[in-house]
Amino acid sequence: MFSRFWQTLEKTRTSFVEKVSAALAGRPVIDENALSELEEALIGADVGPATSARLVDELRKRLKEARGPVQPAAILESIVADMLKRSSGQLIATCASPFCIMVVGVNGVGKTTTIAKLARMFRAQGKKVLVAAADTFRAAAIEQLEIWAARAGVDVVKHREGSDPSAVVFDALSAAKARQAGVVIVDTAGRLHTKVNLMNELKKMRRVMEREVPGAPHETLLVLDANTGQNALQQARIFKEATEVTGLVVTKLDGTARGGIVIAIAAELGLPVKFVATGEGIEDIAEFDPSEFAAALFK
Ligand code: GDP
Ligand code: MG
Repeated sequence: MFSRFWQTLEKTRTSFVEKVSAALAGRPVIDENALSELEEALIGADVGPATSARLVDELRKRLKEARGPVQPAAILESIVADMLKRSSGQLIATCASPFCIMVVGVNGVGKTTTIAKLARMFRAQGKKVLVAAADTFRAAAIEQLEIWAARAGVDVVKHREGSDPSAVVFDALSAAKARQAGVVIVDTAGRLHTKVNLMNELKKMRRVMEREVPGAPHETLLVLDANTGQNALQQARIFKEATEVTGLVVTKLDGTARGGIVIAIAAELGLPVKFVATGEGIEDIAEFDPSEFAAALFK
């Protein structure tokens, strides 16, 4: 039986399997030529040069150690799965109340949509959720969060367009305490025009959170759009310098052939992938499952 997640990865799988099997299939022995073709195929499948080289090195090593007939694709799958396992994780477990999550990332990657999905998920666990409209840069961003919050059945704390995001955060946390909300999720603006600006804005919001709730923000999730390929790595590096990131959400894995980027993201950023998003519907999110993901790429 194939899960829905499996189906949404169809395009990535087709492209990945095609490239990898073109490099490996029909070869009686996997020699250096085959390995360098495989490396190129992986790079072509958005895995990225550094990670592709690492995967091929590990495969070469395991092929040398192997006795008897081998299935190189199956070995590669297990190498990928191991790599993904080392960089996956769940939300930090804490009994903090409210549990505070800050969501960051550049414009258009899917922050607001992801917040609604997470809000719905927490609600389904019986938790009271508040979302903070701290992307005050555009009026449309606030309205969009309101629409999504209504779908998720959660309340929004908002100010007017152009107001100070930190003031929104302060109000959201006060409201959360007064209404005994268990979870607060903060939407932020993804303006990258200057790193200093981004850094200052995020720092100020964090300071407010730290002051109002011990240990907050408990999670800072960076959202990356799989369609952006190697650019996602670059965005992640900038955000990592600007603020403390505790985990990643990779969005738009449906409808893209570039899902191989998840391997590079997991291998190169030193941050756990916590969720993957696979559609525009409010339920289209799942905790990242490394084995399922690796299997979905190879079969
Ligand atoms: P933000 O600017 O980071 O807040 O991004 P939004 O949440 O507004 O999303 C930008 C666009 O991406 C919207 O059209 C969303 O419907 C779309 N989107 C978000 N997540 C996904 C996803 O997982 N799959 C697909 N196909 N579209 C998504
Ligand atoms: Mg938004």
